[in-house]
Amino acid sequence: MTAPSGNAFAGEIPMAEKIAASPCLVCGENAVEIVLDLGETAPANNFILPEGLAQLNEPLFPLRLGLCRTCGHVQLTEFVPPGLMFDHYLYMSSASSTLTGHLHCLARTVTGRLNLQRQDLVVDIGCNDGSLLEGFKLAGTDRRVGVDPAANLAEAARKKGAEVVTAYFSPDIAVGIRERHGRASVITMTNTFPHIPDLQSLLQSIDLLLSKNGAFVLEAHYLVDLMEMCAFDTIYHEHVSYWALTPMARLFQEYGFEIFDVERLPIHHGQLRAWVGRVGKHPVSGNVAAMLSDERILELDQVAPYRAMATRIRQIKTDLLDLIREVRAAGGAVVGYGAPAKGSTLLSFFGIGPADIEYIADRNVLKQGRLTPGSHIPIVAPERIFSDRPDVVLVLAWNFADEISEQLSAYVEGGGRLIVPIPRVHDIGGTR
Ligand code: ZN
Repeated sequence: MTAPSGNAFAGEIPMAEKIAASPCLVCGENAVEIVLDLGETAPANNFILPEGLAQLNEPLFPLRLGLCRTCGHVQLTEFVPPGLMFDHYLYMSSASSTLTGHLHCLARTVTGRLNLQRQDLVVDIGCNDGSLLEGFKLAGTDRRVGVDPAANLAEAARKKGAEVVTAYFSPDIAVGIRERHGRASVITMTNTFPHIPDLQSLLQSIDLLLSKNGAFVLEAHYLVDLMEMCAFDTIYHEHVSYWALTPMARLFQEYGFEIFDVERLPIHHGQLRAWVGRVGKHPVSGNVAAMLSDERILELDQVAPYRAMATRIRQIKTDLLDLIREVRAAGGAVVGYGAPAKGSTLLSFFGIGPADIEYIADRNVLKQGRLTPGSHIPIVAPERIFSDRPDVVLVLAWNFADEISEQLSAYVEGGGRLIVPIPRVHDIGGTR
């Protein structure tokens, strides 16, 4: 194992060097203080082909978390060009049955709550392979448009019956959709909201496209869950923002919108779902004030909670590396299950490579045959686990641990060990 370059907590850096060069994405102030340093890593979804490895000059980028001391927004301090991450995207919503079910349920909820009619226009930003729009189709809406820069996923979304615009959502794209279809009754954005560095452009685009009484419904990883779960591996270059409600409310307010309801959801490692409308157009739920109040108590705008998380990250690293060493020293095999982007962060930051984990099984056929970015561990089909019967399977897609535990029930019943690294290293369901 190689030593990671990051020092986990940036507490030892002199104050003058702690303020990031880039300004806050929400308030624009040059007041973003580095609070966590995860070293230099490859973009977490850039799974590479083995034959390209020899010629590959794999780019590495610093991965550091910053806290805006003016508005409390948490974001990366350096950004990777979006074209390197999103133009050919290997993450597919439909690869997980949990996620597909979640998106279909979201479509039913939105359709019911906003009383959508057949002719209402629904636009999904970052539509991926069209799973959410498929949910809207099943819920009875006829007019659905998706926007996503990943050309390789557009065909899958079209097959599910949606018009797909292969582009980054922008004011021009918003106007184009409006000219063809009129204004949208609903704009949705699940998971891609944290990907957007230019929030001003996004808010302008939504303003141009959303109808007067329409709603923008977004889902994003919730910073409070990230901290509670110690889900540091969900920090990677695609996620430029780590949202709490407080800075989010400030952002929408500046553009004449307000958050009229908010929910916490268990999907992934804990999500925030925010319902946003133009000011005064929807009754505002008491959930909003309650969550803002909870965030004040947690002091997320102070450095202390991030320092505490860094201590927990160090413990996970020690426990996991000890476990792998013990199994390997006894002649046993360790493999991984699930090759999500978050696995890339964990493997890179802990310095885990193919000498430690022989391979990683993943159901996503687009990832099979490739290597994990940075750590270069081969990705194979899940069947391999049943034929090889390794001693330990490390569940890297730990947010789908229940689903994976079911898929590997035969392996576990045969005495195999499933290890989940987050929020602490622990066995699930194994008997050995
Ligand atoms: Zn700020």
